[in-house]
Amino acid sequence: MMSGKVWLVGAGPGDISLITVKGLDCIKNADVLVYDRLVNHELLNYAPAHCEKVNVGKESDHHPIPQIQINQILVEYAKQGKNVVRLKSGDPYVFGRGGEEAQEIVEQGVVFEVVPGVTSAIGGLTYAGIPVTHRDYASSFHVVTGHLRADKAKDPINWQALAQLEGTIVILMGVSNLEHISNELIRYGKAATTPVAIVMWASRNNQRVVTGTLQNIVQVAKEQQVKPPALIVVGEVVRLHKLLDFTQLLAETTA
Ligand code: SAH
Repeated sequence: MMSGKVWLVGAGPGDISLITVKGLDCIKNADVLVYDRLVNHELLNYAPAHCEKVNVGKESDHHPIPQIQINQILVEYAKQGKNVVRLKSGDPYVFGRGGEEAQEIVEQGVVFEVVPGVTSAIGGLTYAGIPVTHRDYASSFHVVTGHLRADKAKDPINWQALAQLEGTIVILMGVSNLEHISNELIRYGKAATTPVAIVMWASRNNQRVVTGTLQNIVQVAKEQQVKPPALIVVGEVVRLHKLLDFTQLLAETTA
């Protein structure tokens, strides 16, 4: 029997129109669609009627479907000759274990392709009016995970090195470690007055942004009931948020 194929497709940060033309084509031709919790589920409506939809949505610290099983699902359907679309939030290779899935697919001898997506680490900030770089404020950006792997006792992030850089720091999966993160950055010399933004549900219609400084962001997050999914942004570019938040401007002009 002819073997199928797996497409690892980036769905973008949330606003469904941020998926690529190629990514949408993949969905329209999918026999099986395997998707995550953070993928905007409205995208599923573009799949053909016969398409089987498999929700492998993960919570941040417990995994309803273990990664090994997700890998098996992708490989098994492909071996049945199906077009399998693995729809992942943002860009498939920015965290979220896309690389691990690709490795497994290749090792099992299945043909695959990757369709990049708009990562929340850049596009999510954009929707909050925060340019990730700016000639006056940041000439680099650094995207890190704030999540400590359960099997690794040591913090994998070199906060000391990050604290010494002028660039924008974008932290994914960091909400539950916000206190540790802000403490580390201050401890290693980042100014306590450095602006911080937290962008929740970026680019969705329930997007919410809170701002503060390294010094007070833990308190602000508590008061404003910050919850994942969220992007933590540390750096001077956060100062542009109010001025450039076009989603807010659009809401005001249509109100
Ligand atoms: N591959 C994805 C990231 C997956 S890791 C990408 O490129 O965007 C999951 C983390 O991404 C979440 O914990 C959160 O920190 C961040 N994230 C993804 N989408 C988001 C959104 N719409 N709003 C805020 N944070 C988001």
